[in-house]
Amino acid sequence: MSGWKDEPVLIVGGGIGGLTAALALSRRGIPSQIIEQAAEFKEIGAGIQLGPNVFWMFEALGLIEPISALAVFPNNLIMMDSITGEEVTRISLGDAFRKKFHYPYALIHRADLHRVLLDACRKSNLIRLDASQKVVTIVERSDGIAVTTESGKEYRGAALIGADGIWSAVRERVVGDGKPKPAGHITYRAVLPTSEMDERFRWPDMVVWAGEKAHLVHYPLRTGELFNLVAVFHSDRYEEGWDSFGDPAELHERFAKTCEPVRRLLNKIESWRMWVLCDRPPIKEWSRGRITLLGDAAHPMLQYLAQGANMAIEDAVCLAAKAVEHDGDYAAAFRAYQEARYLRTGRVQIMARVYGEVFHASGVAKELRNMMLSARTPEDAMAGMEWLYSRQPELTPSA
Ligand SMILES: Cc1cc2nc3c(=O)[nH]c(=O)nc-3n(C[C@H](O)[C@H](O)[C@H](O)COP(=O)(O)OP(=O)(O)OC[C@H]3O[C@@H](n4cnc5c(N)ncnc54)[C@H](O)[C@@H]3O)c2cc1C
Repeated sequence: MSGWKDEPVLIVGGGIGGLTAALALSRRGIPSQIIEQAAEFKEIGAGIQLGPNVFWMFEALGLIEPISALAVFPNNLIMMDSITGEEVTRISLGDAFRKKFHYPYALIHRADLHRVLLDACRKSNLIRLDASQKVVTIVERSDGIAVTTESGKEYRGAALIGADGIWSAVRERVVGDGKPKPAGHITYRAVLPTSEMDERFRWPDMVVWAGEKAHLVHYPLRTGELFNLVAVFHSDRYEEGWDSFGDPAELHERFAKTCEPVRRLLNKIESWRMWVLCDRPPIKEWSRGRITLLGDAAHPMLQYLAQGANMAIEDAVCLAAKAVEHDGDYAAAFRAYQEARYLRTGRVQIMARVYGEVFHASGVAKELRNMMLSARTPEDAMAGMEWLYSRQPELTPSA
């Protein structure tokens, strides 16, 4: 098809997934229009872990340098038992890890990652960015897509990507499987200046304190200036949406059985933001005609493998490659993209739930967890990560 690169792809949502999709398309010479409902393109503060798998994508997008300048490269992944205070296991992220997976493990502030992507999008003359536009209607025609926003603005494009997150309206239109499923887990998050972090725990590591029906994560951010704290516990409390203030009393009650260092860390924080965690079971088909989904809209997952944003970024690189392979036949390209992605993203969705069980185990399950994890050799531990962190040949990062 000649001239197919003249018409833009419409992208609903300017989060990490939407921005990366625009960037990946632009690297292939394909124009796009991002339509974001929020008044500004930005991410709220907290940390994101980046596996070596996503660095292959950054390589394809030319982003290794700006990302690395803002990231922290931790020494170890450590699991502590939050009740006894003893170490369960650690995986060194040093030379052997880098040799095996080619790229490092990194920690970055969400806002920093988003800003790197946004700056790269703004530098491209193939990407247009509109904020304060909430998409309300999508009409698919034989020759393209027409979109209308709440304020009455209209957009036309050759195809549409729903990168509109876990509460995706585009998904409702394409898949129609209702709302995501609450996991029964609540997350409290806070970011502290390093000077306020308990000196004993200013570790240069990604640390999980695994407990019973609760766990705490902490790690340094922004080249060591900040610490990210994430506390998760079981609760039936359910409020739709994200980002409200947490109730410290509830948090302290849920962590009452944990060891003194964990309780001290939690006491440090006066103001927590709260998220009610939801996910969905994996599906195989998230495209219809010239409309597809990407990131949390396609495969929302619990955060326990720290891969939701990583998967959105992989999706973006894969989708752009398929658009070119199918020479602008977007319906065929989107089918090929979901075909290439659904088993990998489905595995991460399922394994994220399993990790949640591991982090929150009690009784015999907890004893087994500690016994099995502490008996692993470093080689065993890395072999167990191969499926996730290794380069994915089908993502062919040769932009
Ligand atoms: C506690 C926690 C910790 C996490 N930690 C990690 C981690 O360490 N590593 C990792 O890889 N992932 C992590 N994740 C997951 C990660 O945050 C998400 O997977 C990722 O942000 C999804 O990006 P997205 O672009 O698909 O969706 P979102 O970031 O949700 O972006 C969707 C965008 O679409 C916009 N939008 C929605 N509807 C409309 C509309 N109708 N019109 C226009 N715009 C619209 C929204 O305003 C938003 O900007 C974590 C998640 C949580 C909850």
